[in-house]
Amino acid sequence: MQFKDIEGQAIIANRLTQIIDQGRVSHAQLFLGDTTSGSLALAIAYAQYLNCSNRQHFDHGDLKSDSCGQCPSCQKFQQLSHPDLHFFFPNAAIEKLKNASSVSSADYQTDFREFLSKNNQCGSVDQWYQHIGIEKKQAIIRDSDANNLVHALSLSSYEGNYKMVIVWMAEKMHPVMANKILKTLEEPNPKTLIILVAESSERLLSTIISRTQLVRIPSRADIVRFVDDDFPQLYVTWMRQLFKLNMYTLSQWVEAMHVRTREQQKQFLYYAQDALRHCFLRSNAGLPLTMDFGDEKFNSSFPSMITQRNIERLNDAFDQAIYAVERNAYSKMVFMELSFRISKALKKR
Ligand SMILES: [Zn+2]
Repeated sequence: MQFKDIEGQAIIANRLTQIIDQGRVSHAQLFLGDTTSGSLALAIAYAQYLNCSNRQHFDHGDLKSDSCGQCPSCQKFQQLSHPDLHFFFPNAAIEKLKNASSVSSADYQTDFREFLSKNNQCGSVDQWYQHIGIEKKQAIIRDSDANNLVHALSLSSYEGNYKMVIVWMAEKMHPVMANKILKTLEEPNPKTLIILVAESSERLLSTIISRTQLVRIPSRADIVRFVDDDFPQLYVTWMRQLFKLNMYTLSQWVEAMHVRTREQQKQFLYYAQDALRHCFLRSNAGLPLTMDFGDEKFNSSFPSMITQRNIERLNDAFDQAIYAVERNAYSKMVFMELSFRISKALKKR
């Protein structure tokens, strides 16, 4: 899977390739978002890009970088047959499997690859259950999978590059499985990558969440965004306050956000995160600023504050804030904490 084949996810794709190009790959990551919006496809494209020997970079179009699709590693990825890529996913015993008690993802590898190809790697979990003819309730990622996962990562890599594990629908991990992989998440072997792909974090153990880096995958609905008329002004006011860190005016600003609906808060956060990306492209790649904040002075001076040194920290802070708003966290706390994190990051430019 190449990023170019995943519809509507160029923004997140650019973030992911940038992390790899800068050598800042976190060994355990949680891709949180709908499979039908491409969360699993992005995880596979990410692993492919990581192991590609001829990464491509573009100076036009939405996408800044992608794997080549041609090198020996990419070819194996395109066929989903790379020996260092392992998949784990919900499974259950069905009649055709004789030894029901020891069933695991290993018994469904061919089915899973068929399912991925058939649905362009964006099939839903219900489609998966249908594909293999099991009942939703039975499906689970069990402890036999944990043993296989730990084993897969302990072997040396066939190709001398990264060993990669993708656990799809990680919220379906049985607690025994989840507990068994904690140590691997915490003390991985060098050059290993574990990506947990989940649609909801509510059923994931907090010990798992705390050991992974969160990558929020926007849903297709989120991508078509709504920008309120006053977002630019709210943004400019906010960023100016964060320079001075005047607690009185900042708390007034936070109060004004707090009284808005959750949906408006979320949309504003998307807008603000997108604004950072525009500023980064202006300062880092010298591209013209294509977002107008309605304030000339701000348009010309602010982008230089967003650099390679702080963009990722800022993106992480926004991801976590959006995630918290979605989970109904107390919004005053969310915006206050986010403000402090941004203020700190802006000083480290
Ligand atoms: Zn390649």
